[in-house]
Amino acid sequence: DLLVNQIAAGEVVDRPASVLKEVLENAVDAGSRAIEVQLEQGGVRRIRVSDDGCGIQQDELALALERHATSKIASLDDLERVGTMGFRGEALAAISAVARTTITSRAEGAGHAWRIDGDSGELTPAALNQGTVVEVADLYYNTPARRKFLKSEGTEYAHCDEMFRRVALARPDVGLQLSHNGRVVHRLPPGEPIRRVGTLMGDDFLEHAREVRAEGSILSLGGFASLPAYSRSSRDAQYFFVNGRYVRDKLLTHAVRQAYTDILHGSRHPAYVLFLELDPAGVDVNVHPAKIEVRFRDSRAVHQFVFHAVSRALAESGA
Ligand code: ADP
Ligand code: MG
Repeated sequence: DLLVNQIAAGEVVDRPASVLKEVLENAVDAGSRAIEVQLEQGGVRRIRVSDDGCGIQQDELALALERHATSKIASLDDLERVGTMGFRGEALAAISAVARTTITSRAEGAGHAWRIDGDSGELTPAALNQGTVVEVADLYYNTPARRKFLKSEGTEYAHCDEMFRRVALARPDVGLQLSHNGRVVHRLPPGEPIRRVGTLMGDDFLEHAREVRAEGSILSLGGFASLPAYSRSSRDAQYFFVNGRYVRDKLLTHAVRQAYTDILHGSRHPAYVLFLELDPAGVDVNVHPAKIEVRFRDSRAVHQFVFHAVSRALAESGA
């Protein structure tokens, strides 16, 4: 089973940032109001995520590390309407197959916390307020072939930072903190979306951005799209979220790009933070283990809607 998990890990866990993604999304799914991330050496040495969410009951703690153990889908039918980030129950099993993993958790109403060691499976009492601490240390310590593909500390850290930003942009209502090698990099109190966007994208972005707001009968799009003044002076920053999930999708990227081309006549590097909401039944997020691509039932309608909404926002700016 370890081998199966190690192979599965290749898909889910290809670098520290993908570990961070899974563990961070679990913390969000748990209904946390405050989440703290501590990284060491780009996340290779250690990724520690602590949250104040619902916690995990003692008898479910061992299950959480098993393959296909998920508390998030009760039936195949539920797969159609995935509301949470995780839904395959593979991430923690895959992670614990390739890194030293411990989970300490205290469920709501429990007298104290329990800690499980991923290697031994041993369960011991522990001290913790309500919530969960997941620690993932020494990534790929037992799979040296994989370890060789890790990049420099700086590069792995940059990928972690990017992953953190995506979650932070998607959930301004959750307090989030990130530190690297003991130094706090992001301290984000919960608050209004616009504040979170300003903090993470820079005031320069907000200054040159137009608000996008469109309500359709089955779709809605909100967020900010920058004008070229920002795009020219800054790195690419393109964030698209579908039902709160970061995606990098050709259809959506194309719709936005076409709006920029039509209205601004070829702004080559649009910067935007956009949130598309639609009935979960209209979108399939189970396309890829990394869950970054989506498939829409009615992709033509989605493309049109996004194109028109962004076009309208950019045109209103008087450009
Ligand atoms: P999935 O998220 O797809 O269900 P995971 O392997 O990521 O699968 O997690 C397995 C299970 O462990 C989750 O379904 C959840 O019940 C539990 N879990 C993991 N992390 C947390 C957390 N931070 N707080 C509460 N429960 C958690
Ligand atoms: Mg998960």
